[in-house]
Parts: sequence; C-alpha cells; structure tokens
Amino acid sequence: MAVPKRKTSPSRAGMRRSHQALTTQAHSECANCGELKRPHHVCAHCGHYDGREVVAAGKAIKGTVRV
Ligand SMILES: [Zn+2]
Repeated sequence: MAVPKRKTSPSRAGMRRSHQALTTQAHSECANCGELKRPHHVCAHCGHYDGREVVAAGKAIKGTVRV
C-alpha cells in the first residue's frame, strides 16, 4: 500500500484547501412571476423562459434547482 512519506504540514493543508471555498449560487428574478430563479434557466415556479411558457407550470424539471 502506498503511504505518504511525510506528514502534511499545516501550510500545505492550507494551500490545498485554498481552492475549496464555496461561492454563492447566482440568481435573478423571474420576469413573469417574480420568483428567484437561476439565470438563463427555465423558471421552476411558473415554467416560463424568455417571456413564454416552455414547461407546464409546477411540473418538476430534471436538473432544476429552486433558488
Ligand atoms: Zn416564474
């Protein structure tokens, strides 16, 4: 089994973790219903996108995240 030669120093651990910060999810208001939605995505609340209904309202869309 491969084993690390040296203990990871606090400095090295900090350098590794410097890339682990989480960013806030982008969001914008739906032009139709005013609910918060992800930009450039169909509104999960009313199913509208670009001023028209694309998906039946209230129907769960695969991959959509309510913001
Ligand atoms: Zn909407």
